[in-house]
Amino acid sequence: MADVWVIGGGLAGSLLALALAERGARVRLLDPAPAQETLASSSAVAVARASALSYGGVPWWAGPPDDLGALMATAPACWQRLEARHGPLGWRPCGLRLRWEGGESPAEIASIEAALAGVQALAGRHLPAAAVLEPSSRVPRSGSLRLPYGRVDGRCLAAALPLALERAGVERQRAHAGPLLAGPLPADQVVLAAGASCRSLLPALPERLRVSWAGLLAVEDAAACSPLLPAELAGGDEIVMPLLGQRQGLEARAAQLQGEEWVVDAGLAPWGKGLLLGQTTLVRAGLAKGEPPDPLRLEAALRNALAAIDPRLAEVRAPFHQAPVSFTSPGGPLVGPVAGRPGLWVFAGFSGPFALVPPLAPLLAAAIGGDRNALARLPGC
Ligand SMILES: Cc1cc2nc3c(=O)[nH]c(=O)nc-3n(C[C@H](O)[C@H](O)[C@H](O)COP(=O)(O)OP(=O)(O)OC[C@H]3O[C@@H](n4cnc5c(N)ncnc54)[C@H](O)[C@@H]3O)c2cc1C
Repeated sequence: MADVWVIGGGLAGSLLALALAERGARVRLLDPAPAQETLASSSAVAVARASALSYGGVPWWAGPPDDLGALMATAPACWQRLEARHGPLGWRPCGLRLRWEGGESPAEIASIEAALAGVQALAGRHLPAAAVLEPSSRVPRSGSLRLPYGRVDGRCLAAALPLALERAGVERQRAHAGPLLAGPLPADQVVLAAGASCRSLLPALPERLRVSWAGLLAVEDAAACSPLLPAELAGGDEIVMPLLGQRQGLEARAAQLQGEEWVVDAGLAPWGKGLLLGQTTLVRAGLAKGEPPDPLRLEAALRNALAAIDPRLAEVRAPFHQAPVSFTSPGGPLVGPVAGRPGLWVFAGFSGPFALVPPLAPLLAAAIGGDRNALARLPGC
């Protein structure tokens, strides 16, 4: 197999590099960030790669009812296979707790009921009936629903990936790739896997590839904060999310935005010995990544929303970090060749990448290796 350069060493670029190496390609992985970076800070605003700040939730049962959703459903098996080959990467089954409160008005109760029914229909396609409770006839004002889920611990993954890449023979280069202007490529095959920076490398990528800015509080030592957590959230290996999360809705209307909009979703996720608390999501009109948003008002809004889980959480001493995240709206991720540029490929814009990247990376690696049918079943990629 030919020489392949993969630009971007986050979740997407790293798992693709492993899949390419497994097929015998000579792979060079370019990324300016240190291999083991989890959180880096620039002068005024703490900014990280999305993979370092992620909850790492594996929404394997939450995909669309098509071939892409069927691939997502294989994510737990894919992570187990990756671990059998490369050693522990942080995969573990866990719970997903969806919380709601404030169901006062008939309209609020109706949206809670609709959201519960939607989640239960999604989960019911893959989970045994016993794991998916029927919606009760009367929804309480506040409550939570716990479902089986999976997660990949970001701290563990960040520590394990550099070793796995080295053992697989992937050459890592700390370098910032420049824009891929017309002209010869620097290698036989080049893959753009630079997340939110893909467009600055190739402005002509499809319009549906967009960028949001996510923000959260990163607690290094959860023991210091567990006395602050309500009993049902402390110590459990659970990802907690609001049932009526707003991030997906904001991303879905990204193409219609006239200006900047942001939302706050008060969730939390285990993160090594620590906790991630948040998140804020800011989307701007247009396609450019732009500068990180001013963190002050976003952090204040996030602390305010966390107070809904427990007022003491608003006071947790933890830094606010931000990361640019690539997503697609409308349509599926960008996985495949770039039209009109033989040898150039793109791998970005996932919704639920911790469930999508593990099954998609081997398919894209096969396509790069010359298998013309490898990506044939992917809708809208
Ligand atoms: C708070 C938060 C919670 C999340 N929760 C979940 C979740 O529960 N489940 C889930 O599936 N997803 C979740 N996500 C989304 C997920 O983390 C990201 O979509 C995913 O990590 C993106 O991976 P990536 O490799 O595409 O991009 P990134 O991780 O951003 O990696 C891109 C890499 O490209 C590099 N790069 C940029 N420019 C260049 C250049 N010019 N040359 C070379 N390299 C370059 C960067 O340094 C970076 O390392 C969450 C994200 C956030 C921020």
